[in-house]
Amino acid sequence: MESAAGELFLIATPIGNLADITLRALETLRRVDLVAAEDTRTARKLFNHYQITARLISLHDNSSAKRLDDLLDKLKSGAQIGVISEAGTPGISDPGYRLIQMAAAAEIRITPLPGACAAISALCASALPLDSFYFAGFLPNRPGPRQRRLEELKEITATLIFYESPRRLNATLEALEEILGDRPACIARELSKVYEEFLRRPLSQLRLLGAEREWRGEITLLVAGCDRESLARDPQARAAAENQIRTLLADPDFSKNHSNRDLVDLLQAEFPFLKRRRIYDLVLETQ
Ligand code: SAM
Repeated sequence: MESAAGELFLIATPIGNLADITLRALETLRRVDLVAAEDTRTARKLFNHYQITARLISLHDNSSAKRLDDLLDKLKSGAQIGVISEAGTPGISDPGYRLIQMAAAAEIRITPLPGACAAISALCASALPLDSFYFAGFLPNRPGPRQRRLEELKEITATLIFYESPRRLNATLEALEEILGDRPACIARELSKVYEEFLRRPLSQLRLLGAEREWRGEITLLVAGCDRESLARDPQARAAAENQIRTLLADPDFSKNHSNRDLVDLLQAEFPFLKRRRIYDLVLETQ
């Protein structure tokens, strides 16, 4: 079915329950010229279940530049190509991004087919605030980068969403409690599968639970965002912020070319839970 204009379809597939696939996804998988799949064996199982006979090719994070160039050439010459990941929405903590970027740069039409995504299913049943959320994906494995990443996330007020492996979950719960404080949280396990489970408790209780039971299956972890008012009430958090401000003000590169008012504005944006008057006093104190 090659035509003048090729098209790239980003097709969401089930994250557990095979019935979680849309009619449009099935219809598209049946009609495209080629499906680029993260794992051709998983794709084959899905295809067998739904009697799909599409041609499959593998596309993963280690795919060669040549594989990507070939796919782009096909799109440019009019091919309709579907992208699927092992589960859920392609590109979400899964391969697909490089091809999406290349197709966009070549002005190829990109059509997302909405469907399952563990982060969104977990979020909407977590009972944590839904009005704004921050998808943090997998945390870095190494302790240093992991701690730095958590420090970056500490003041985000949106609900935080992480993907996590059962093996690392206990260590992650501990690190989260230590760096973010004891916040409301939720473990969403085995979504859409037989043993689906939601554990909605503060991080400290989830950590204690982890000492008693062995985590299994696929896990999405959600943590309430930073509550600025409670930070403002926390003397330790205030003292830590004030120390950071003193260090910043002592750096001539930070202070130079700024009026006191500019400095206060900059610092207030960085530390919104501190009172403006207090920041102003700190600025005067360091002059
Ligand atoms: N692209 C997928 C999506 O749209 O959700 C995510 C792929 S990522 C490589 C896999 C991670 O997603 C798992 O390690 C787990 O953290 C989360 N996940 C996937 N399926 C899940 C499920 N059924 N229940 C809970 N979490 C799941």
